[in-house]
Amino acid sequence: MDRLIEFTKHVHFTFGDSVLEIIYLIASIMFILGLKKLSHPDTAKRGNLWAATGMILAIAATLLLHSQDGHKIGNFGLIFTAIGIGTILGWLIAKRVKMTKMPELVSFFNGMGGAAAALISLVEYPHISKELIADHGLLNWNTLVILLGLIIGSISFAGSVIAFGKLDGRIKDIRSKILRVINIMLLLFIVGFALFIMTRNQVNPIELTPFIYILLAVSLVYGVLFVMPIGGADMPVVISLLNSLTGVAAAMGGFLYDNLVMLTGGILVGSAGTILTILMCNAMNRSLFNVLIGAFGGGGMAAETEQGSIKEVSITDAAILLGYSRKVMIVPGYGLAVAQAQHLAHELDIILEEKGVDIKYAIHPVAGRMPGHMNVLLAEADVPYEKLLESDKANEEMENVDVVVVIGANDVVNPAAEDDPSSPIFGMPIVKTLKAKHVIVMKRGMGKGYAAIENSLFSHEKTRMLFGNAKETLQKLVAEVKNI
Ligand code: NDP
Repeated sequence: MDRLIEFTKHVHFTFGDSVLEIIYLIASIMFILGLKKLSHPDTAKRGNLWAATGMILAIAATLLLHSQDGHKIGNFGLIFTAIGIGTILGWLIAKRVKMTKMPELVSFFNGMGGAAAALISLVEYPHISKELIADHGLLNWNTLVILLGLIIGSISFAGSVIAFGKLDGRIKDIRSKILRVINIMLLLFIVGFALFIMTRNQVNPIELTPFIYILLAVSLVYGVLFVMPIGGADMPVVISLLNSLTGVAAAMGGFLYDNLVMLTGGILVGSAGTILTILMCNAMNRSLFNVLIGAFGGGGMAAETEQGSIKEVSITDAAILLGYSRKVMIVPGYGLAVAQAQHLAHELDIILEEKGVDIKYAIHPVAGRMPGHMNVLLAEADVPYEKLLESDKANEEMENVDVVVVIGANDVVNPAAEDDPSSPIFGMPIVKTLKAKHVIVMKRGMGKGYAAIENSLFSHEKTRMLFGNAKETLQKLVAEVKNI
């Protein structure tokens, strides 16, 4: 009889575990399908919902079905209080945040992911089982996974906090050669110290806990210092790198707990972030090694160019120029997002098209303040995807363009990236507006872009400035073009 009871207990646990694994598999598939849907503006919203549903499913199944050594999860009061507080705060922040502050929010959420992964390592390190250590010493898979989660998670957290401050304009870049040397030394120390901890075979993990805190502190300092010098046009690469680091740190938690869904989620974020980082590095002509040691850009201040004479154009003249063009290229930038003028840009595009003008948008990979910012903005205004050209493609067509309309873009059309080796954006590909016959630039005044440097495009003989808030300027321009 005892053996029968034992057997039914076993069957029960095996059954529960199997159900849990199947639910994890379903949740993982939902993540993958969600990610696939996120790759197109038409399906992106649904993709987000699929991935979120997968996550809810995985959390609910873990709470109800997970068991270890016959013990189910307890402490439901604490768990639900934490989930409740997190959900309410996340909901409120996401609801209230302005569209222009989205990049900061994404950076903040990314940092929280890194912090969570680092905390898992801190909590789990003292619990590495003594038997495991007796058998293999500390040089085992669990220790490696815990240390990697701690290092990568804390670098991602500290780096994201600095990125948040930089996007918000509260933290300024600090550039110096000494910082690069310090960064390389810190990186070497982190690797060396982690190896040292792993090889302390016979020592009880509890006794090594102070070392873990030293590793945490140094990783946090490195996270701060490696993002500190990065500025100008190079922030997007760092943001996608931090994204991938958070994914990898979460995947370490998946390895540690042998949890399929956590592993899949982490790997998806990590690999998507890595692909984006590589694409961004290629787009910006930067090497990944330079990102890691914080050696970016031209390394100095741009030579202050003498600002030539600025020529303005009236709304009426701009409307006539556009209305009688054959081909027009719009170059959207951060200012378009600030002005929330994407719907009006689309309206202008429709009216011009009705007049027989061929109209396209040149999308620079780092225009705006987050990867894909302009794509999201224009998708929101229902601009057809086929009208968006990557900047390389747009540059190929530029010689046949009659008028380029730059709306709130600055750094991504700055010729200094090609002409001035001392510029922090030197080497970054730009939208080559000057290859077109005429350039109209819409901005409020002579304010600088994110990289805080002068732009000689504005005083070029081909360029005419149309000053004012992009929304009001476009409203007047649309009305004027209608009257032609
Ligand atoms: P910029 O930041 O270079 O320039 C934006 C311009 O818009 C400003 O010069 C400003 O001039 C103008 N502007 C602001 N508000 C308005 C408004 N309401 N109406 C009209 N004009 C306005 O933008 P870009 O898109 O050209 O470049 C993006 C920059 O941000 C790059 O340096 C990139 O590296 C960086 N970055 C990008 C990230 C990404 O992932 N995409 C992340 C982090 C940084 P004025 O004040 O005179 O109006």
